[in-house]
Amino acid sequence: MHDDTQPAALDDNWQDDANCLGVDPDLFFPERGASTREAKEVCRGCVVREQCLEFALQNGEKFGIWGGLSERERRRIRRQRAQAARSIVGA
Ligand code: SF4
Repeated sequence: MHDDTQPAALDDNWQDDANCLGVDPDLFFPERGASTREAKEVCRGCVVREQCLEFALQNGEKFGIWGGLSERERRRIRRQRAQAARSIVGA
């Protein structure tokens, strides 16, 4: 399984295989406090979930569901990566 604390390489065409192609984009950008369950279910069956998440992390996407994760969940991964990078530097 991919280690979320380490950045992964991206190719450019991953969006062609997105499970959310043709799905209402509003689902992925819910109003504050609205359910993210349906969007996450689409992401769960997506073959490019990992690339999508990585794209959002590397581009600092602040809004919406990417790679099956909410803004808050992505912030946590960014924090973990920053901590991991600091521990390498400090080693
Ligand atoms: S992980 Fe979710 S948001 Fe990303 S491409 Fe797949 S279905 Fe779309």
